[in-house]
Amino acid sequence: MKDYLSFGGGVNSVALYLMMERLGMEFEAVFVNHGGDWPETYDYLQYFLATGRPVTVLEPEVNTVEKVIFNNLPAYCEHKAILPNRTHRWCTDRFKVRVVEAYIETPCFMHLGIDAGESHRARLSPVAGRENRFLLIEHGIDRDGCKRLISDAGLELPPKSGCWFCPYQGKAEFRLLRKKHPTLFCRAQKLEEARNNRPEAKSGQWKPYYLCDIPLADVIAGVDKQQGLPGMDADYPPCHCGL
Ligand code: SF4
Repeated sequence: MKDYLSFGGGVNSVALYLMMERLGMEFEAVFVNHGGDWPETYDYLQYFLATGRPVTVLEPEVNTVEKVIFNNLPAYCEHKAILPNRTHRWCTDRFKVRVVEAYIETPCFMHLGIDAGESHRARLSPVAGRENRFLLIEHGIDRDGCKRLISDAGLELPPKSGCWFCPYQGKAEFRLLRKKHPTLFCRAQKLEEARNNRPEAKSGQWKPYYLCDIPLADVIAGVDKQQGLPGMDADYPPCHCGL
């Protein structure tokens, strides 16, 4: 059976890649490029590829009822005025899971980068012909062990993987986004506004929904007020998106 590695470009999947390499396994790493990851993750992917390690990059094709095809998750959210949701993770399902499922040949093993410190997240595959494997757990490697595997291979540690508008992020991440990528932060803010200005939300049929429990404008309110004051971090850039 063929071995695939679900590669997200974060610490765990990079460590798993290196471990499978060390074990002399033959496998294909697959990464879904849906355009929503932090720019640092795409940079790291290029860095990783440049080390001579192949990764197959897949692109989603998600259809809307108007028969418009999207390969970009943020653009899809903007088109539909919706946000990723913590309760039912349609974003992962439509823009990642189904893309990988359409690509792989079954029967196969799918290797997932869940480490020994988070074994409660390991699940059997619901897909016939695909068996999930968790080598990091099998070998007792936790998050720190993952980092060691990467540094022992002489590689830089990857940034945390995930989307820049992911609702699983905390305030610190959104503040960092505002600092490092003000344009993306503004897009996230506009997405939030568009979703909460939908007729369903205006009529009270839908409750207000925010990526970080409170409006993103409030997440950075205190930080923004200090901008430009003596002693403030000069890296904190002004935002020109008009919000
Ligand atoms: S990282 Fe967050 S926003 Fe992106 S696909 Fe996963 S759950 Fe959705």
